[in-house]
Amino acid sequence: MNNQEYDILVKMMPEFQESTVHIKNPAKVEEILCGLIKGGATKLQIITDFDMTLSRFSHNGKRCPTCHNVIDNCKLVTDECRKKLLQLKEKYYAIEIDPALTIEEKIPYMVEWYTKSHALLVEQALQKSKLCEIVKESDVMLKEGYEHFFDKLKEHNIPVFIFSAGIGDVLEEVLRQARVYHNNIKVVSNFMDFDENGVIKGFKGELIHVFNKHDGALRSTQYFTQLKDNSNIVLLGDSQGDLRMADGVANVDNILKIGYLNDRVDELLEIYMNSYDIVLVKEESLELINSILRKIL
Ligand code: C5P
Ligand code: MG
Repeated sequence: MNNQEYDILVKMMPEFQESTVHIKNPAKVEEILCGLIKGGATKLQIITDFDMTLSRFSHNGKRCPTCHNVIDNCKLVTDECRKKLLQLKEKYYAIEIDPALTIEEKIPYMVEWYTKSHALLVEQALQKSKLCEIVKESDVMLKEGYEHFFDKLKEHNIPVFIFSAGIGDVLEEVLRQARVYHNNIKVVSNFMDFDENGVIKGFKGELIHVFNKHDGALRSTQYFTQLKDNSNIVLLGDSQGDLRMADGVANVDNILKIGYLNDRVDELLEIYMNSYDIVLVKEESLELINSILRKIL
């Protein structure tokens, strides 16, 4: 890292001095930040992942659940089914984060994981009416500073596109229970399909998995066309697949990509620093993003 360039950036934002912050090209980050600040609220939009980006990866040394895990761990799922879901997770999560495999090599495995785990959830005949309680009893947690993050974006009416390969019904319930599901938020995710008795019968629409977000982004062109003047983007993610969440955006003037790196840090840091403008290592807070928003808004 060029020290002089980094000093200029730190002068602008002392928060970048934190040991969790890793930036390959401080001059580029400074340039993007200046563009974002200049554009202000009117040009801004947020595109963000959910699991392990807005929600926590760990808390007090314990792993926190993804949307899927909220269901996997709930008491309405039989022990036998939970065992199968956990076995799937062990096998396929290792593939998801394997630094030795390319995204193309990972895709068939991700499809296999989602197909098998979603089929198991359908077998369990989950009821829509139980979701509220399932989320309430789960260990899912949003990252520190989430209130400020969501409230500030709402206050300035900044469009927030939450693009998740998790389960949309769970995600929405998490936001609702945290009282931050404001009307400036649009969620695109895998939504459960319920029969007339409110029992799950499958999932709606095309599957969104960790590595096909570019396809989903392109299906959301109608949303992005409405936001054609919001050409300044802050993108938040935790996976290499999240980098393409903005593929459907009509006009891009400035895009700042911020990536949370939670797992296999030593092997993945270089890859993350080469693809995200700012990498936050084992960080369970939204504070840095909040301070960037304070500069822009
Ligand atoms: O919101 P996001 O796109 O991050 O959601 C996807 C996450 O859900 C992935 O990181 C993956 O590890 C996790 N997942 C899971 N169980 C599944 C399928 C995906 O925990 N059956
Ligand atoms: Mg994620």
